[in-house]
Amino acid sequence: MTTQPSWQDTTYGGRPLGTMARVALWLIQEVKENGTFTKARLRAAFPGVAQIDRRMRDLRDHGWEIATSREDPTLLPQEHRFVTRGADVWIPGKSKAPAHKGSITNAQRAKVLKADGYLCRTCGVTGGEAYGDGGLEQAVLNVARRPVVQPDGSVEYQLVTECQRCGRGNVDRTVDTADVLADIESLAPVERRVFRGWIAADRRNPSALEKLWALYRTLPADARKAVADKFDGTDD
Ligand SMILES: [Zn+2]
Repeated sequence: MTTQPSWQDTTYGGRPLGTMARVALWLIQEVKENGTFTKARLRAAFPGVAQIDRRMRDLRDHGWEIATSREDPTLLPQEHRFVTRGADVWIPGKSKAPAHKGSITNAQRAKVLKADGYLCRTCGVTGGEAYGDGGLEQAVLNVARRPVVQPDGSVEYQLVTECQRCGRGNVDRTVDTADVLADIESLAPVERRVFRGWIAADRRNPSALEKLWALYRTLPADARKAVADKFDGTDD
């Protein structure tokens, strides 16, 4: 099966061709790489097919690049550009959803929320809590997949608790564990001991140093100056 089926075919090699695969073929055969199309044209090509826009967007998970006016300012709001093709999704086995796209089960979600202490791992807000910025919005916690670069360079998608606000906007939240480990490695021994304590408690307990700083800051100006003059660094 080396020939490419037509986008109008409904089967290929004796198997049914899925909508996403047919949209892929339509892009190649009708729109052609670097061509533009509107949603209306896509819908007209696949009359009566539900969620055709979504099937088109699903192609992005298979390496297909389809730009909107956000990525390509030369496009009109209703236009798309078929930039480059990705995997041959009409070939059986090539259209499997990538591992990081499957749905998260309720059991998985409950386990992740519990492990994360029912708080957003990005901003620390807990579910139902206000954000503390004077607004009325209450945090809603979700479980999301975050790409984590392993020390060997491979990427693993791990589940993490995240509030709706932090999850908005599709920011790249890839974290590199090797960088984190290297930064820990470069800490002074005393800092590393403090950090280990925070890890154990899963929260940042104020250290003796921070408590002292907070106390120093409460001093009136004259007393602050007196401490600063006495502690001018000549003794280290
Ligand atoms: Zn958050």
